[in-house]
Amino acid sequence: MEDTEGEGLMPVLRGSDLLADLPLPAGVSEIEVKDWKTVPSSHLRVKDVIDLAKLIRELSQSFDGIVVVQGTDTLEEISYMIDLLYGGSAPVVFTGAMYPPRFIGSDAKRNLFNAIRVASCFDAIGQGALVVMNDEVHSAVEVIKLKSFGVDAFSSLPFGPIGVITPKGVEFRRKLLKREFYETEDLEEKVALVKTCFSMNPDTLDLFISSGYKGIVLEAMGCGNVPPVLVPSIREAIRNGIPVVLSSRCSGSDIVPIYGYEGGSLYLVREGVISAGRLNGLKARIKLMVLLGITRDLEELKERFS
Ligand code: ASP
Repeated sequence: MEDTEGEGLMPVLRGSDLLADLPLPAGVSEIEVKDWKTVPSSHLRVKDVIDLAKLIRELSQSFDGIVVVQGTDTLEEISYMIDLLYGGSAPVVFTGAMYPPRFIGSDAKRNLFNAIRVASCFDAIGQGALVVMNDEVHSAVEVIKLKSFGVDAFSSLPFGPIGVITPKGVEFRRKLLKREFYETEDLEEKVALVKTCFSMNPDTLDLFISSGYKGIVLEAMGCGNVPPVLVPSIREAIRNGIPVVLSSRCSGSDIVPIYGYEGGSLYLVREGVISAGRLNGLKARIKLMVLLGITRDLEELKERFS
């Protein structure tokens, strides 16, 4: 992003602008630039990410690693969608900048340089989509944007980044136990995300149900509890074959079905609501969009979320 004519920051930079003056990290002999789109990340749609997944799969046949540079606003969602759709072993590393290149102290070059280092790193092979920001390597499955400014805006709660980048090199410290890959191009865009809050009413939920949404993710309180006033709408959705997925509005927290009162986490699971485990609402929505391209069966969806 650059402010070229006093209009405010605009997406005008090309890949070659970002790479100008950037030294090649040790061990990297060649970088090929592909300008895929020059848009704010909030303008991207599901069909764009399907395209991007195709392009990445293609490139992974002939390149050792791939770096995707995008705006940070939807980085946590798009990197996760690519993670679910990619399935290859060549590293795919997303990065961005919290401060545009011309801002003093911008993190743009450093993040890009680090992303290239990770994309060319042997230990990154087979780890799915990664996100590199602020000298840290995150799994796309876990990373969230917690701050609107600050080079440390991205975080993987509760366990922290899976790796760090030091002047010595890239050091992975842990690995995710499981990777998921879904071969589909039939993603469902009509998946709603509803944040629950104190003393809310069911109007928004009802609106999504009556407008033909094909899936609903609830960002519940604590370990998965919602106000009881939502229960009739949740039942109605499930009765109509609309999967209702439960995530926590507390960052980095699990859904734990222990509360049996009306609207409590255990109560909801007994009603047929699907737990998203530790995926937050944004990630659970991405996963449901992808899974609905594979199956509409509630039991199968539950299994794939478990
Ligand atoms: N609003 C910008 C975007 O996501 C933020 C950034 O450039 O990081 O496109």
